[in-house]
Amino acid sequence: MIDTTHTAAPPPGPRGAALRVAVVVVAAGSGSRLGAEVPKAFVRLADRPLLAHALERAGRCPGLVRVVVVAPASHVADALALTAGVTVPTQVVAGGAERSDSVAAGLAAAGDDVDAVLVHDAARALAPPSLFAAVVAALAEGHPAVVPGLPVVDTVKEVDKHGVVVATPDRSRLRAVQTPQGFDRAVLARAHADAPPGATDDAALVERLGLPVVVVPGDPLAEKVTTPRDLAVAHAVLAGAGPR
Ligand code: C5P
Repeated sequence: MIDTTHTAAPPPGPRGAALRVAVVVVAAGSGSRLGAEVPKAFVRLADRPLLAHALERAGRCPGLVRVVVVAPASHVADALALTAGVTVPTQVVAGGAERSDSVAAGLAAAGDDVDAVLVHDAARALAPPSLFAAVVAALAEGHPAVVPGLPVVDTVKEVDKHGVVVATPDRSRLRAVQTPQGFDRAVLARAHADAPPGATDDAALVERLGLPVVVVPGDPLAEKVTTPRDLAVAHAVLAGAGPR
């Protein structure tokens, strides 16, 4: 009988010198579920747009040498105005119809002189610098792909097209993944070159290449703002009323 059990392959080993990191902040979605008149990344959370909060935190990523913001074509100038506080070279490029198109545009602008690229959703505006640091630390250990993830608190059902349950995965083995997701730059470029249309998760593209994707502990602060309720929760967190 073939033994199908295996342990995760050890990482190739530390890279020694500190990684040179580019962060790509994707902010080109419409955010229709938020019901706002502006694209989601430009919706205000307290005193500033979501994108400004995301950039403030992403700008403190260890090893950061470059930031690329991917904005709706109609909002490139607005996005540029929000990058003023970032202390490394920053550029804004126009995104595409699907998130994966926007990531590909950001990746093309990230440059091939960096070791690692972190892809981050502007909608996860309060993801803290410590989460960026944890992802970079795991990349520096030699992992080609690193995603933050939290244990799933609800039981999750897989259903067919009629809504009939076909499977109930063991909850203890599930993680709800967040961003920033970190990648060896060349690995992410290869993953996107071979991507099917409409991919919503960059790590899944790396999985398709047969490479390991490591999950590090996520952070509740990195939850995505999707609905008006999420925005209200983020307001409460910023005001110090929520979990930190
Ligand atoms: O739509 P969703 O909330 O999953 O989007 C996640 C992130 O991807 C958001 O920050 C959004 O602005 C970005 N996105 C993008 N280009 C698209 C769709 C989404 O940059 N075409």
